[in-house]
Amino acid sequence: MFSSPRGTADILPEEAREWQWMEGIARDLCARYGYGEIRTPLFEHTELFHRGVGNATDIVEKEMYTFVDRSGRSLTLRPEGTAPVGRAYLEHHLNALAQPVKLYYVGSMFRYERPQAGRMREFHQFGVEVFGSASPLADVEVITLAHSFYEALGSRDTLIALNSIGCPQCRPRYLEALQEYYRPKIGGFCANCQRRLERNPLRLLDCKEEQCRRLSQDVPPIYDYLCSGCRAHFQQVQELLAASGLAFQLQPRLVRGLDYYTRTVFEFIHSALGAQDALGGGGRYDGLIEDLGGPPVPGVGFAMGLDRLLVVLRQSGRPGKAETDPQVCVLAFSGLEKEGFLLARQLRAAGLRVLQDFGERGLKAQMKWAGRTGAPWAVLLGPDEWQQQKVILRDLTAGGQEEVAREQIVPELCRRLGSAAGER
Ligand SMILES: [Zn+2]
Ligand SMILES: [Zn+2]
Repeated sequence: MFSSPRGTADILPEEAREWQWMEGIARDLCARYGYGEIRTPLFEHTELFHRGVGNATDIVEKEMYTFVDRSGRSLTLRPEGTAPVGRAYLEHHLNALAQPVKLYYVGSMFRYERPQAGRMREFHQFGVEVFGSASPLADVEVITLAHSFYEALGSRDTLIALNSIGCPQCRPRYLEALQEYYRPKIGGFCANCQRRLERNPLRLLDCKEEQCRRLSQDVPPIYDYLCSGCRAHFQQVQELLAASGLAFQLQPRLVRGLDYYTRTVFEFIHSALGAQDALGGGGRYDGLIEDLGGPPVPGVGFAMGLDRLLVVLRQSGRPGKAETDPQVCVLAFSGLEKEGFLLARQLRAAGLRVLQDFGERGLKAQMKWAGRTGAPWAVLLGPDEWQQQKVILRDLTAGGQEEVAREQIVPELCRRLGSAAGER
């Protein structure tokens, strides 16, 4: 007997309906905001993530599924979506289109982490990317899109944490200030932090180790170090969020675990999860496309883990489900299976969700099965009625049945199911 690999899960049909519902809301919102879907490969050249995500990040150092294929190329299962989408933007010359280019994706990502509730090794993300706009309006558009998504799902109490991490002009001064702050205390930090202090001191701010978090408590806030451009941008983002009626909290130590961010960074935190457990987040990445070998192109986006979101939705209410319940069961006496089969075809062509018994059991067993499917109606084909050009329409919810003319059964069921759907 096999089981699925640790950190992966099968999504069976009943649960898949929740995913379809959630993804449907994401797709609908993206269409309303003018984002087009992009589907990139599940694996990429490993170098893309070294350059796009950053060498001194947890993802690249510890969490990637990297393998050598039969031709000796190093490939990596995508651990995040932004670097692949940036790669596609460049490869297909999307910078030659009218800017900004607004894209979204929904799909699997892979990270080698310790599995826990809602944190899997194969996990699912919904993300958006805007390329070709440096405007604070773009930052706020992606934040409001994410917020609308949480709202549409019925997830309340989602807090927006906001920060700016500056730009290549002003960040070096801040990094120096961080190093000065950390150097005398570095003995108390974990081995990772000690190693990263000189190379990438920003990473010490989001280390998950308890001792490191405690020692980062009084770190100098970045605000005093922002250049005038970054300060004005940050100010405008805050004003636009306030004008949109979105509550947010400034979090001076929020830096996000990826190297490509510049200026705005944000996270969505749900009160049901711990403070370090964000539902999703993102930020501006004005240097990413250049890091990938392209021209300077500003960008901003977010990504959110859908697995964890579903866990939260199940705790705090009930996620919706895609509408896939069967509406009609077609049952036929022995000898009329073919006629039943053809009637089921007609009903489906009329837009109804129809199950048909394949005639491998008696009518009594068929009736029992029909009752278990949850379908509100059954159509029975009996030899006597069929001879008289009739079928039996049985109400599986209220009980009772009646005869209906054969040529009337399709419009009759459409009428009844149409009005039943309207009442719900
Ligand atoms: Zn700056
Ligand atoms: Zn640490």
